[in-house]
Amino acid sequence: MNGAGGGGAWVEETLYTAWGQRFACKAEIARLRSRHQDILVFDSASHGRVLMLDGVVQITEADEFVYQEMMAHVPLLNHGAAERVLVIGGGDGGILRRVLQHRGVRRAVLVEIDEQVIALSKAHLPGIGGDAWTDRRAEVVVGDAIHYVFDAPAASFDAIIVDSTDPAGVGEVLFTAEFYRECARVLTDRGVVVNQGGVPFMQGGELRLSSARRAAFFADTHAFLIAVPTYVGGFMAIGWGAKDPGCRGTLSAAEVEQRAAAAGILGTTRYWTPEIHLGAFNLPPYIADCLRRE
Ligand code: SAM
Repeated sequence: MNGAGGGGAWVEETLYTAWGQRFACKAEIARLRSRHQDILVFDSASHGRVLMLDGVVQITEADEFVYQEMMAHVPLLNHGAAERVLVIGGGDGGILRRVLQHRGVRRAVLVEIDEQVIALSKAHLPGIGGDAWTDRRAEVVVGDAIHYVFDAPAASFDAIIVDSTDPAGVGEVLFTAEFYRECARVLTDRGVVVNQGGVPFMQGGELRLSSARRAAFFADTHAFLIAVPTYVGGFMAIGWGAKDPGCRGTLSAAEVEQRAAAAGILGTTRYWTPEIHLGAFNLPPYIADCLRRE
């Protein structure tokens, strides 16, 4: 944290060494070192309350809807009949809340390694998870998700949503071949997995690596794009892996809209629309290159 104009302070993100963003900080809300990472919650002058882990922006109140809506709605609507969903990471609760908006979801399991992230999010960012934490369909497991997928029964989930930190520290194991192999085993034949794939302009290697590893276990490997203002550097890529290539298929905007209406999410979104949903799978060459096998 550095001095800001007018006597305030700045919080600088330390994701990249030679470039980055900073926030004018109105107030520090919580700061601690957990068993796994440094956690900071602060009020920014520009983006509302912000959660940072190890100096990297996880969510801000102002733009979290972009990422959370697309990470939840795109895989579940493409699947079309997802009842059992596994959310990995996601300790802020935002994706769990969007998953539980889907009427057809009967069971949603969230596996988060850091109980402090959950506790601080409930205490200081209550609107992100909202009532998802008390939903009778939700199960919250504190633990390393690699162990959870190794222990879970085969074909016990329809969709896996990996809302993790980047492939460093505790998050690294969630980008390995073993992880994707177990995800494929745990998913049903029409199962789909999505993961935060980084910002390709700055982190192209992340998408390239995870896509290559996913491709060994999923018939269809691709990505879709979102624009999250505080995930700086252009588009963020969401990695896509489906056991059934038809899952990405040829849905029309009208069909996606019908599914959204049946799911009960139509009219509840600020970023997701049927057209944005379908268009997000179109990749510019510099990102499509990250999916090309070496
Ligand atoms: N949307 C954010 C992003 O794209 O950077 C991620 C938000 S979410 C808070 C990330 C969560 O993943 C963190 O709370 C972190 O503790 C959790 N996480 C990292 N590695 C994990 C692991 N191996 N098992 C379970 N959760 C993990």
